[in-house]
Amino acid sequence: MSKLLVANWKMNPQTAAEAVRLARAEDAKGVVVCPPFVYISSIKREVSRAKVGAQDVFWEPRGAYTGEVSPAMLKKLGVEYVIIGHSERRAQGETDTMVNKKVAAALRAHLRVILCVGESKRESGSRNYELRKAQNYVKVQLKRDLNGIHNSKFKIHNSLIIAYEPVWAISTARSAKSQDNADTPENALLMIKFIKGVTRQVSDVRCRVLYGGSVTSQNAASFLHYRDVGGALVGGASLRADDFKKIIKTTKTL
Ligand code: PEP
Repeated sequence: MSKLLVANWKMNPQTAAEAVRLARAEDAKGVVVCPPFVYISSIKREVSRAKVGAQDVFWEPRGAYTGEVSPAMLKKLGVEYVIIGHSERRAQGETDTMVNKKVAAALRAHLRVILCVGESKRESGSRNYELRKAQNYVKVQLKRDLNGIHNSKFKIHNSLIIAYEPVWAISTARSAKSQDNADTPENALLMIKFIKGVTRQVSDVRCRVLYGGSVTSQNAASFLHYRDVGGALVGGASLRADDFKKIIKTTKTL
């Protein structure tokens, strides 16, 4: 299976011109570029090989919801993917109930969902990492986020992607040395296999599962060479065109 690379630009870059330049550099097959909402239209016009994704979506179709964007609005812009439940949104108060409503609404609108799950340090045993603890936490998160999302109802075969992102491995404000924070590839693989089992159980679907957390051109191959790792969700390194292009190149050699 070919790998999927999702570029999560977060609230960057600062101008539309820079966004267009970055999108041109990342325009390759197997890439999903996820810019801030305001750049989506310009980027759609620029890319021909990459797909475009949004970083969030609301569950209601219309109405008095200041600041929100509906699934249909994204579809009309030509958006095909949407990231839901990123830990940075959860840190701002997004609950599993909200994530679940967003996943259902996005799938109903035929958007492909990239659902982010992952434990923080606290949930995996603070000082000494405990795989079992982390797995239990992620299992509960998946059960809540996918509550009622069953393949028989949503036909989600290709439209549900899970991103395993241990919160402690996301580099957010430390991108310069982001590689230091990454999970070990062996641990990521164990979690990804576990997540595949849980999603089969909960939603009766075989999902592509990505790894996310301080992926750079230097460590990408060590995660992506595993068959079970379906790709990567890349934050900091997706803002550095040269770095991201090297990651794209890596996926071609696997
Ligand atoms: C992310 O934003 O989901 C992410 C994984 O960021 P980074 O690659 O910077 O850790």
